[in-house]
Order: sequence, then structure tokens, then C-alpha cells
Amino acid sequence: MKYIAGALAALGAMICACSSDAETHDDHADAATCVTVRGGPLWNYSAGDPLGPSHWGEIASAQDASVYPDCANESQQQSPIAMARSGAGVVARPFQLGSELAWSTAATVQNLRNDGHTWIAGFDPAQNQLRVDGTDYGLAQFHVHAPSEHTLDGKEYPLEAHFVHLDASGTQPFAAVIAVMFEESENDNPELAKIWPKFDRCAQEAPSSVTGVTLDLPRLLPEGRTYMTYDGSLTTPPCSFTVRFFVLLEPLKASKAQIRQLQDAVGRNNRPIQPILAGTQVSIHRP
Ligand SMILES: [Zn+2]
Repeated sequence: MKYIAGALAALGAMICACSSDAETHDDHADAATCVTVRGGPLWNYSAGDPLGPSHWGEIASAQDASVYPDCANESQQQSPIAMARSGAGVVARPFQLGSELAWSTAATVQNLRNDGHTWIAGFDPAQNQLRVDGTDYGLAQFHVHAPSEHTLDGKEYPLEAHFVHLDASGTQPFAAVIAVMFEESENDNPELAKIWPKFDRCAQEAPSSVTGVTLDLPRLLPEGRTYMTYDGSLTTPPCSFTVRFFVLLEPLKASKAQIRQLQDAVGRNNRPIQPILAGTQVSIHRP
């Protein structure tokens, strides 16, 4: 429990791809023009690379000389997973993501960061809330993966956004992450378009403060609120088993250019699908 609490304490900064580490990649267009940012553990998404996903469990952290054993922990459910609307482990339960969600239509973006692994938009957790099992979680940030990390009924999407909500009291062992898929379209997603040009194309050691930028956050959710949920892990090192995912089944749309801009800056950034462990329950919720 202490371990989980400790891991959660670091979650605001570390979930998915938001740790203080950052490095440039050599697999995207602008790497040669970016200055390498150091100061943390090095890992990447390249299959077969010594720093790639299959070796995350062995990579030493430059900060504390420990390794990321949870990335290779076969006793805890790792994320992402392949989600299917029917099949073993899928049960129907009452839908919650309606009145339990209080996102602002004018949510203030506090900062933006390219951490070398993803683009992250930071928020004041007090401004946007999600209630899970009676506990309020605040939206700390959202970030993006391209292609998607989870798959739905075997389909991989071009883009997946993770909205990371943390328990303000720090007593809950899990963060609540809403995942939204995006299809590719001709037109820019208007909400993403408000911040996309503001992200740095090179990795930054720290977030850049922004002022005067607000997002209509509910527009970053589909109208259909059916979702699947399960308890899983961070999808980046340290891969801690501290995330409750809520994966919306209806996708939104983003333009090919928007997806390309992200990948040009950080490369492909999706962790491979992880096996679903015996005993893991994946629940589907319908409004
Ligand atoms: Zn993520």
C-alpha cells in the first residue's frame, strides 16, 4: 500500500509520459534540430531497441538508480489492453460518467509541455472534476498517444487522449484516466487546434506557462458516453498499477495534419498491448 501511495504521489508528473525525463528521439523528422534534454531515465517506444518497451522493466532510473520492475510485473494488470465489447470478463454495470463529470466549458490551460514522449496540457485540478465511487478527482492534465494505446474490438485508432484525474486528498490508490479515441478526418479538431500550434516541437525540461487559453472540455468527449473500465497501469515507466481507465467507445475526430504534427514532434508513442491477466474484470457501462 505504501508503495502504491508513493507511486500515486508521483503520478501527477509521471503518468503515462509526463515524467521529468525527456530526450529527443532519432525516429522523427526534427530530432536533428533539437537539443537533447537530459536529467532523467531514458526509454523509448522503439521495438527491439535496448531502451524500448520490452526492456522497460530492466532500465535503470538515472534519478534513484532503481529499475522499473513493474513494467515487467506479470502479477499486476498492465496497460494498455485490447478491449472487446463482448467476451470473457465483460460485464454490464450502471453508467456513471454523466452527472459525475463536471468539466468546464472554459477550462483554463495552465501550461503546455513536450516532454519528449508526448504533448501535455496542464490544468488546475480544482477546476474540472470527475467523481468516481463517491470521491472527487481533479483533472491535472491530458496528453496524447498516436497511434492509440488501447484497441477496441481489434481496432487501433490514429490518436488516443488520456485525461488524468487525481484524488486531491491523495488517499486513493488509483488515478482516474478517461481515454478518448480519435478517428482521422479532413478537418482539424477545433479544441485541439486551440493549443496544437503552441506545443514546442522539441522536448522541454519543464512545462511552459500559458495565459489566456481556454478549452471547451466537454467537446473533447463524444456524445455517446458508453465506456469500458478496468484497473491497469501507467503506460510508461514506472508502469505502476495505479490507474483506473475509463475508455470511451465512441471516437471523436482529428485531422491527419494534427496527428502528423504530434508524431513529427515526439514520434510514435504507444506502448504495445499487454496481456489481460486472469481475474482482471473489464466492465462496460452504458448510460
Ligand atoms: Zn497516456
